[in-house]
Amino acid sequence: MYGRFQQHLKDQLAEIREAGLYKEERTICSPQGAEITLADGSKALNFCANNYLGLSDNPRLIAAAKKAMDERGFGMSSVRFICGKQDLHEQLEKAISDYFHTEDTILYAACFDANGGVFEPLLTKEDAIISDALNHASIIDGVRLCKAVRYRYENADMEDLERCLKEAQAQRFRIICTDGVFSMDGNVAPMDKICDLAEKYDALVLVDESHSAGVVGPTGRGVAEQFGLYGRIDIHTGTLGKSFGGAVGGFTTGRKEIIEMLRQRSRPYLFSNSLPPMLCAAGIELFKILGESNELHDRQQANVKYFKEKMEAAGFDIHPTESAIVAVMLYDPILAGNFAKEMAKENIFVTSFTYPVVPKGKDRIRVQLSAAHDFSQIDRAVAAFIKVGRRLGVIS
Ligand SMILES: *Cc1c(COP(=O)(O)O)cnc(C)c1O
Repeated sequence: MYGRFQQHLKDQLAEIREAGLYKEERTICSPQGAEITLADGSKALNFCANNYLGLSDNPRLIAAAKKAMDERGFGMSSVRFICGKQDLHEQLEKAISDYFHTEDTILYAACFDANGGVFEPLLTKEDAIISDALNHASIIDGVRLCKAVRYRYENADMEDLERCLKEAQAQRFRIICTDGVFSMDGNVAPMDKICDLAEKYDALVLVDESHSAGVVGPTGRGVAEQFGLYGRIDIHTGTLGKSFGGAVGGFTTGRKEIIEMLRQRSRPYLFSNSLPPMLCAAGIELFKILGESNELHDRQQANVKYFKEKMEAAGFDIHPTESAIVAVMLYDPILAGNFAKEMAKENIFVTSFTYPVVPKGKDRIRVQLSAAHDFSQIDRAVAAFIKVGRRLGVIS
């Protein structure tokens, strides 16, 4: 049975390798952090984690998780409508609603599930989903699971969005959905304009805050805070796997009735296990930490500014950013791939992005700054960029 299929897979895998698209994984033998230890004992500086607030190894989160394990056990062994929830789930949902100034919150195992389960329960083939071309894969998959009519507008292009909204007047309800921060360029969605258009053309608004939460806005509370849009965004989705501690977990937060309907009908919520108590307790502690001071957010922002200034002074072409993501433009796929490999040899981990992940000719290195980095570590990264950049003829 397996023989012919096995050969089919082997051939396909060989093609992936030959195209240079095979994804390798390095093995880390330390907590996630600014500096990590690899399986061979060597150390490297990590500039490719979504650990924006540096909380992946935070002692308070670890202590909260351990305490919850001692007091509340390891797992829930069921979904909520069958076995119920713990008070910790309720408290975390409340903490998320408070953070985003929303009415209610529903937890998922991941943001991938939040996005996968948000459209189908709310919209039918009579309705329209209007989606940014660069939205995350999980939004694309969520849209696919829903029978609504689909419209796609060019990234952050408000004229194109308006065209879609005009066409979508043919449908009963419309929803605009966008990432808050786009992960390739680090640009922030123009949420003020999106909300204005939504009002003009009678549409709901959904924003995925995965890369914007904890980063964007004067205190990091995301795009609504940044643009002063409290009460005008209907749905936010987000992850506990990036700024918010870096473990796992996702959520949808927003209007009361929307969340209530998701609890009744959202399939990844109904048919997938609830978050373990330790993750809820760590999440509650996390929002306590973020409520106490703005220090982590401010340090993260200062690190982005410091890195950008040093890189521009060195002659690199930096894509304008308003987030924790800095794209170092190289405009050539082979150069970008080599650059990341050479940086790894200098013990600096950054990611190369090439076509088809980014448009043809827009190949780059993506750097992600964290509150966990200090200036001396950023200096080491910039020094490596300069060394490799000269060796590869990117800067003089
Ligand atoms: C990372 C990410 C997700 C997935 O989050 P998980 O909780 O890891 O599933 C969803 N949307 C966006 C925009 C992301 O960046």
